[in-house]
Amino acid sequence: MKAIILLGAPGAGKGTAAEDLRKQTDFQHVSTGDMLREAVKSGSAVGERAKSYMEAGTLVPDEVIVDIVKERMDRDGPDAKYMFDGFPRTMKQAQMLDQVLDEHGADLTHVLLLEITEDVVLDRIAGRRICKSCGAVYHVSQLTPGQACDQCGGELYQRPDDNEETVRKRLQVFRDQTSSLIDYYEQKGVLHRVDANRTPEEVQADLLGLIRESTAGL
Ligand code: AMP
Repeated sequence: MKAIILLGAPGAGKGTAAEDLRKQTDFQHVSTGDMLREAVKSGSAVGERAKSYMEAGTLVPDEVIVDIVKERMDRDGPDAKYMFDGFPRTMKQAQMLDQVLDEHGADLTHVLLLEITEDVVLDRIAGRRICKSCGAVYHVSQLTPGQACDQCGGELYQRPDDNEETVRKRLQVFRDQTSSLIDYYEQKGVLHRVDANRTPEEVQADLLGLIRESTAGL
């Protein structure tokens, strides 16, 4: 088992980067946000529990997240290669991940920090549109009204938590609860910083370079 973490504020481009990297490497894209949105859509117990936190832009309790991630890792078995997007988001989640990776004799090869300024985040998120079917991410400036997904023809929508008020809350939550992970991973010597205020192509090129640098067999 191997793991990469994409760390960064909401709107830094973690989901877009992870989707591209998934196509170019053999790492799976594991987004706890996507898993939770699926759970909300299906009306499962996890979804019921998570919904109000997500709508408010606050974090879903650690034990819910730890359970869904553990379940996924147990199901996939020892050869899995994970690219985590939006996980871990608290110290407790980071410690749980360390423990599970340890139990599997697995490596955390990279923590890729997408660094972004908050005004860029606000513009990106307010204009973000997502495909209901395949999850592809667009910005309104790339779209004509009523346009469907380029990749699968699916309908595009705006996430209910992608409004300015909730985004400001999510940025606050990142500063308060997630940003301490930057130091944590820096001290472990696995943190790499990437300037995410640039185009997806530029960010992508840097990320791929970093992953290939020290990951054999991709
Ligand atoms: P994301 O798609 O990563 O922006 O996540 C959307 C929302 O899902 C967040 O604002 C949180 O409410 C919740 N969420 C996703 N991942 C986590 C996590 N690792 N820990 C706690 N809450 C999470």
